[in-house]
Amino acid sequence: MNSSTLPNPQPIVIGDAHRVPRVLFVDQSADLGGAELCLLDIASAWPNQCQVVLFDHGPFETVLSERSVDVSVISVGRASRTGRDSKLGGYLQAGPATMRAAFKLANIARNFDLVYANSQKAFIVGALAARIARKPCVWHLHDILTASHFGWAARRIDIYFANSHARQVVASSEASAAAFREAGGDGSKIDVVYNGFHTQHFQRDLSHASAELRRELKCGAAPLIGSFSRLARWKGQHVILDALVHLPETHLLVVGAPLFGEEDYAKELLSRVQELGLSDRVHFWGFRQDIATLMAGVDIVIHSSISPEPFGRVVVEAMLVGRPVIASDAGGMRELITHNENGLLTEPGDVAGLCAAIELLQKNPGRSQEIAQRAQLISRQRFGLDAILDRLQQVCAKAVA
Ligand code: UDP
Repeated sequence: MNSSTLPNPQPIVIGDAHRVPRVLFVDQSADLGGAELCLLDIASAWPNQCQVVLFDHGPFETVLSERSVDVSVISVGRASRTGRDSKLGGYLQAGPATMRAAFKLANIARNFDLVYANSQKAFIVGALAARIARKPCVWHLHDILTASHFGWAARRIDIYFANSHARQVVASSEASAAAFREAGGDGSKIDVVYNGFHTQHFQRDLSHASAELRRELKCGAAPLIGSFSRLARWKGQHVILDALVHLPETHLLVVGAPLFGEEDYAKELLSRVQELGLSDRVHFWGFRQDIATLMAGVDIVIHSSISPEPFGRVVVEAMLVGRPVIASDAGGMRELITHNENGLLTEPGDVAGLCAAIELLQKNPGRSQEIAQRAQLISRQRFGLDAILDRLQQVCAKAVA
C-alpha cells in the first residue's frame, strides 16, 4: 500500500530526548481510524525509544513501518472478540485470553518506562500488562463513554480499569473528559489533549483540486459537497442522503469505508441511494489517503454524526484546507466550531436543518469564504502537531515521575 499521500512531513523533534519516557504504545486495531492516525503522528515523532504493539496485521502496521516506527503484532485470541456492546459474560469468557495477552505484552513492556494504550480493548490488556511489568499506564481515550457508544459492561470495566490501573487519562476533548467523569471516572487523572496535525500538509497549494475532482466526477459546475468519515451508522451519512433529495442540483462525494464491522450499513447506504433516485449525484469513493486534496475539491464538508463525536479529526482537516464545514451540534464539535463564526452547527439527524445550512452557504459564497478563512486561521493556531506532542510528552513524564 502506498501511503505517500498521508501527511508525512519532516519529523518533529520534541524536547530533550533524555527526559522523554521510553513508551510502549498499544492499539487493538490495524485499520486506519482516527485514533490510529493520531497515534501514527505521535509515534513517528516520539523522540526516545518507542514501539507500537497491535493486536492484528493490517494497513496501520504498514504505514508505521514506512515511517520507521518499530511495530509488532501480538495475537490476543479470544480477547479480541469483546467489543463495545459485549455483555459482562462475554468479558468473563475472554478473561483467560486477556490474561495471556497481558503476559505477552508485559514481556515487551519491561524494556519501556510506560505503557500507553490508544484504544479501549488495548487499554484493558495494556493496564494488566503494565501491572504485571510494574510500569505506569496511560490511557488515551479517543471515545465518549456514553450509552450511545458503549454498552453497560464495557463502560463499567473501562472505568474500573481507569480508576484502578491508569496513572493518567488523556481525553481527546472536553466532551470525552466530561463523559468519562459522568461514567464514574476519576477526574483528577484527566488531561484534555486535542489531536495534532501536520498543518503544513494541509497548507499546500491545492488550487487545482476542484477542477480535477469535478472532471473525475463529471459534475461540471454543479454544487459539490463531501463527507469524509468512515461508513458507520452513528456517523450519519444517511442524513446527508436524505438532505440531498431536497437539493436537486447538488452532488455528494462520499469518502470512507466501513472499517469496524459496519458493512451492512454501507450496503444500506447504497440501496438508499437507489431508492431515493440519487445514483447520478452520489459518488462513493471508499477509503482514500489523499483526504486533503479531496476536501479541497468540494465546496462544503459535511460532518453528520447522529451521536456525539469524541473529537472529529475530519472537521479540523477541512478547516485546515480552507473548506467551510457544517457539523452536528454535539460532543467535541462544540469545541471545534463556534456556530456562524468558523463553521455551522446543525441538530444531529435534522435533515431540514442540514438542507437550510447547505443552502445558506451555497447562496452566500462571500459568507462561506469568510467562515472558511476564519476557521483555517484558528485551526492552524490550535491544532499544530508540535505543541500537542509537547503536551503529551509532559503527560507521559508526569506518569513516570
Ligand atoms: N480518513 C481517511 N480516509 C478516509 C476517511 C477518513 O484517511 O477515506 C481519515 C480522516 O482524514 C481522519 C480520520 O480518518 O483523519 C477519521 O477521524 P475522525 O476523528 O474524524 O473519526 P473516527 O474515525 O476517529 O471516528
